[in-house]
Amino acid sequence: MIRPKKCRICHQPYTPIRPLQTVCSYGCALIDAQKESAKLWKHQRALERKARKEAKERLKTRRDWIKEVQSAVNRFVRLRDADKPCISCGTWKAAQWDAGHYMSAGGHPALRFEPLNIHKQCSVCNAHKSGNLVMYRAGLIEREGIKTVEWLEGPHDPAKWTIDDLKAKKTEFSRMARELLREREAA
Ligand SMILES: [Zn+2]
Ligand SMILES: [Zn+2]
Repeated sequence: MIRPKKCRICHQPYTPIRPLQTVCSYGCALIDAQKESAKLWKHQRALERKARKEAKERLKTRRDWIKEVQSAVNRFVRLRDADKPCISCGTWKAAQWDAGHYMSAGGHPALRFEPLNIHKQCSVCNAHKSGNLVMYRAGLIEREGIKTVEWLEGPHDPAKWTIDDLKAKKTEFSRMARELLREREAA
């Protein structure tokens, strides 16, 4: 005695005529097959996307990774300083906000990704006044204290980041930015 089943496409009861039958009719079987192939197709596309992304990552140079870490830390700094004025001139209004280094990234690679060395800055100070450094120093002493400023100005071990270090740093700064955003939303 074969018990009636429920068709997985149209959900109507039917009496199966062969084992493992899951649909009631040829029409529902067609729909079922289409659904399955769409699912497979989607899965296939996701695998291809992932492979393309991985291939692209493998082609990235150390310099590419440095750029990506820099934009991740800069984004974190802009979020951290969202409710602060320009570190140098103190303006609250800017056509554009930048993340400006105190000790330059080129001259002091060890401090390139140091959040204490990077602060929200108006584009006038950052781009047109070369960082407005005398005022930057005064603002930095006020915000972080003279000890931190002297530490930044002092000697640092040369930075030797491998690509894996840089990947880890990017992940870390993205995580810090996400956490800040979550805290703000919760507040
Ligand atoms: Zn059916
Ligand atoms: Zn400024």
